[in-house]
Amino acid sequence: MLTWKDVINFSVNGNPTPDRRVEKTEAEWSAQLTLEQFRITRQKGTERAHSGALCSIYDEGKYNCICCNTPLFDSTIKFSSGTGWPSFTQPIKENAIKYEKDSSFGMVRVEVMCNTCDAHLGHIFPDGPEPSGLRYCINSESMTLEKETD
Ligand SMILES: [Zn+2]
Repeated sequence: MLTWKDVINFSVNGNPTPDRRVEKTEAEWSAQLTLEQFRITRQKGTERAHSGALCSIYDEGKYNCICCNTPLFDSTIKFSSGTGWPSFTQPIKENAIKYEKDSSFGMVRVEVMCNTCDAHLGHIFPDGPEPSGLRYCINSESMTLEKETD
């Protein structure tokens, strides 16, 4: 299980190696994504709180990157944070997510990105529920929910 210490360590000393890489030009991403998806994932935007479709959905399944379809989180680690953005306590796999220090807007935060294609997903904070204490605060528009089928 990842803790805040691991997250800081990744952001300072480097991230785990992803299983694969997906790299495209801005024009290719732009052709594939909606305007809002492009603004958030490729230009580090943030959606308005409570506006995201996945914010209050707790169906079972995997949350995949909207850009490269890599699984990032799953429904078992989603929790209701009351912030207005989908929130998780852990990544689906340690090397699914990449972390970078973000000093924009006069704050020092840790940015969360897809480790496969570098899509901006959101930020991570050390005020989540136990035992990990982590809160991944993720834009709904940066993910697609792949529902469990049986
Ligand atoms: Zn991705």
